[in-house]
Amino acid sequence: MADSTKVYQPLPLHLDTNVEDEVESNLLITSVDQVLNWSRRSSLWPAMFGLACCAMEMIATATPRYDIARFGAEIFRASPRQADLLIVPGTVTWKMAPAVRRIWLQMPEPKWAIAMGGCATMGGPFAYAYSVTPGVNTLLPVDVYIPGCPPRPESLLTGLMLLQDKISEDTLGKKWQRRDVEPQFHRYLPDGDPIRKELESLWPPYTGYGHPYTGEAFKD
Ligand code: SF4
Repeated sequence: MADSTKVYQPLPLHLDTNVEDEVESNLLITSVDQVLNWSRRSSLWPAMFGLACCAMEMIATATPRYDIARFGAEIFRASPRQADLLIVPGTVTWKMAPAVRRIWLQMPEPKWAIAMGGCATMGGPFAYAYSVTPGVNTLLPVDVYIPGCPPRPESLLTGLMLLQDKISEDTLGKKWQRRDVEPQFHRYLPDGDPIRKELESLWPPYTGYGHPYTGEAFKD
């Protein structure tokens, strides 16, 4: 038991203490930006989501052979609310476009997107097909594009590292702003098309299904 009558004195300062050495070995100085960026880039949680063949390569990236866990990105979340990275691996058809856009909207900020493979980048082998979007960048802002059909797991890891570099450059000074893309679906889908109607409800001002938005966003 501690003696309550004893007066504790601070330890005497040794005269041979080198203050500079002490500071160097005991103090860690950094900026809020660096800490935030380090934690964000080292704990990216991808949405558990795949569209076509490229998804197989994404799944392979999580296996022990490639081990995406080395980059802190192995926690694939089943709910978009718990994900901050949307890897779009595969062909984005118009039929799937509203679902892809909705998943993106449901993810909290800050969030990032990777277009994995030729299809997600520009339609891939199906470019110009009536049923395929000319790239997922028509639906959401893409941070990194990974070419290939399909890209190998090494390519996805390279894309992930590029995204980490991009996040490292971020700064609070820029004030994080919600990013979005201009809608383009009205150039590809005819008036009254049910998919077009659904997409219309997924851009600001988020009107209900079947209430076409005719504001500034629909410029040709
Ligand atoms: S880019 Fe090639 S491998 Fe990937 S989804 Fe398209 S067709 Fe399949």
